[in-house]
Amino acid sequence: MSKEKKMSLTVKVLLGMALGIITGLIINLAGLNEPGSFINVYIVNGLFHVVGKMFVNALKMLVVPLVFFSLICGVCGIGNIKMLGRVGGKAFALYMLTTAVAIATAIAIAAFFNIGHGMNQVTDATFAGKESPPLTQVLIDIIPNNPIAAMADGNMLQIIFFAILVGISMLMVGRKAKGFIAGAEVANEIMMKMVNIIMAVAPYAVFALIAKAVANLGLGLLTSLAGYVGVLVGSLMFHLFITLMVVLWVFSRLSPKMFLKKIRNVQVFAFSTASSNATIPVTMRTVTDRMGVDNSVASFTVPFGATINMDGTAIMQGVATVFIANVYNVDLGITGYLTVILMSVLASIGTAGVPGVGLIMLSMVFTQVGLPVEGIGLVLGVDRLMDMIRTAVNVSGDATVSCIVAKSEKKLDVDVYYDPDAGVLTTDEAIKLDENVEREVAELVKQVKSKED
Ligand code: ASP
Repeated sequence: MSKEKKMSLTVKVLLGMALGIITGLIINLAGLNEPGSFINVYIVNGLFHVVGKMFVNALKMLVVPLVFFSLICGVCGIGNIKMLGRVGGKAFALYMLTTAVAIATAIAIAAFFNIGHGMNQVTDATFAGKESPPLTQVLIDIIPNNPIAAMADGNMLQIIFFAILVGISMLMVGRKAKGFIAGAEVANEIMMKMVNIIMAVAPYAVFALIAKAVANLGLGLLTSLAGYVGVLVGSLMFHLFITLMVVLWVFSRLSPKMFLKKIRNVQVFAFSTASSNATIPVTMRTVTDRMGVDNSVASFTVPFGATINMDGTAIMQGVATVFIANVYNVDLGITGYLTVILMSVLASIGTAGVPGVGLIMLSMVFTQVGLPVEGIGLVLGVDRLMDMIRTAVNVSGDATVSCIVAKSEKKLDVDVYYDPDAGVLTTDEAIKLDENVEREVAELVKQVKSKED
């Protein structure tokens, strides 16, 4: 086997990311990205844009069928239906707890550094707020009035609800549903194979996505908002490396070092797509194949987390609130900040993990505490980059809670978790087709056809 073939996909994806950052920086700093220039039109908004978008679409394409089939299999394979309630309860509690801790620490750090203080040039800030759904509607909307529409819209909570109900009903039907259960198992396996195929092109797509994002970045803006960006990134890193890892260790005794090593791949996908939802297939594959979480837990905790768990987004809201309150000289007081914490946690339940949704949640929080919504315009310019970083933190939280819940339910294979090579994929393996199997299947098709004739 040649050296190139042996290189794992994770390493290639990391290389793609590094090269993407370098290429993007060169384009940006050399001023090659002027609107209308060759590089701008054909490379950044041409090649990079097309390759990146195609890849994100491919990931999104997998999300709905993957969640649906794996969840059916998860429910059927759970062995004890009571466990489902426990898994749901534990996951929900941990997701809410980590999000609340995330935003509380973020507010404390931002207040400590007093960011935005004395910065009064706010006149040109503009941002039109959008409505986020009220909690009552979020609750009502958990139940789809049309499951096909839910799938078409990619409404995760509705899909989760329907899939669980299908799984439970299949169990109730029992023997007669055997064929359907086996079919769902095969469908799930097929979907996981598709994840592998798409992972094979990830290094190039990650390169394109990141090169485009960095090339388009307003680097000047980064320095003018250095206080905001610095405190935000610092708080995100604090949450990822300290809070989440302490939570992982305390609740499961699993090694944070191993976790951080294995989660890297997922983080790069989240970073380049800025979408927890689009990252679901990769998160699912990593927590099951690389970390040993049983599908019966992961099929629920991962899509559930992608929707309701947004630690990184909550951190951004905490830091942005302190920043803008200081810029506008508004004293929110302790009650104001408690409201911010509560609102952010609640807002994260009803909003999907897609790019930029954090800003919508922020406008809801601002309205609630009486901060000017147009102030969000101040941080808009750096939000894409911040979105990429906070999404990586969001998915890390999803995986952390999945491991904790699985371990507590004895649904985590500790040997797989501690095996550094478990589930490692190379490009070759990702797209491997066995010639014998191909021939076998062709033979099968022929037989079926001859019977039909
Ligand atoms: N992009 C984030 C996610 O998908 C949400 C946000 O912070 O805007 O998790």
